[in-house]
Amino acid sequence: MDINRERLIQTFLTLVQIDSESGEEQEIIAYLKKEMDDLGFKTDIDKIGNLICSNDPNPKLMLAAHTDTVKPGKGIKPIIEGNIIKTDGTTILGADNKSGVSAILEILTSIKENGLKVELEVVFTVKEEIGPIGSSNLDFTKLKAKQSINLDSKPGDIVSNEPSLMHFDIEITGKAAHSGTRPENGINAIQIAAKAISKLKLGRIDFETTSNVGLINGGMARNIIPEKVTLEAEVRSRNDKKFEFYTKKLIETFKETALKYGGTIDIQANLRGKAYKHQETDPMVKLLVECGRQNGIKYNFTSTGGLTDANIFNRHGIKCITTGASGNDYHTTREYLEIDKFVIGTKIILDAIIELTK
Ligand SMILES: [Zn+2]
Repeated sequence: MDINRERLIQTFLTLVQIDSESGEEQEIIAYLKKEMDDLGFKTDIDKIGNLICSNDPNPKLMLAAHTDTVKPGKGIKPIIEGNIIKTDGTTILGADNKSGVSAILEILTSIKENGLKVELEVVFTVKEEIGPIGSSNLDFTKLKAKQSINLDSKPGDIVSNEPSLMHFDIEITGKAAHSGTRPENGINAIQIAAKAISKLKLGRIDFETTSNVGLINGGMARNIIPEKVTLEAEVRSRNDKKFEFYTKKLIETFKETALKYGGTIDIQANLRGKAYKHQETDPMVKLLVECGRQNGIKYNFTSTGGLTDANIFNRHGIKCITTGASGNDYHTTREYLEIDKFVIGTKIILDAIIELTK
């Protein structure tokens, strides 16, 4: 079965011209709902705004793609130059992830045109780029498929390994005092934070582990010893033991330091992602690689320190592999898409879907 190259490009051009920076996906979700209704799917928008679609009570496979883009993503004017689609350089292109979204629409349209029935679920998520927040808040009771493909990369790439991620919200309380007349009555929360941070290893800890303190707020005025400081920090690792070690270490360091200098501390730890690894021997991975080979594309396995929607789906018991249809230089205004690769990437995923739902 083949896909329609011109229609795929046209769909992509249409979608990138619907603004959808993270948190502003209502218009594109409404557009996709109508398309999916027309393709014979039951559609439902959950509380956070994800579009959940199904064409059978027992779907064999779920397809997912996020609909939001990074900034600057408003007023995108795609320019076609030979085999390349790009912008004038003032905005991103939005191939991340409109290439995945348009590939799904083209695949479903091709299947329908060929008179085939393939039992599928489709999830178009929101706020992936700033979280992933959409998938994290998805109503999973609405999903039935146990395996899925997340389109959020390019042909030739399989994201096989993602980290666990812990978010920390930390509040340190010291004691306010006049810095000139009664400094000995005060406990400086900023200093406690500084001492704790200086004891931590931040940035890249090793090839699979990172840590960051990314936000700090505190103090009232130059002449008041600061009573409150809040911080946002994170630890990521693809290794469970290291993840446990460094998350504990961060909590203990802040607690001990606050205690030592007479302050108090509140730390909220929030597990945002759970590490997973798909082996190259996994049947679904092997099938994708084989479909790639038949279309002249060799697949590489990539490990990432980032989190895709697949992390959340895997955590909820839906085996999910991230690959994709196309795009280069994501998250920059140099972002571009190679049309030939886009067509092949879409075809590979169509072939894999047909095999996986037999
Ligand atoms: Zn993406």
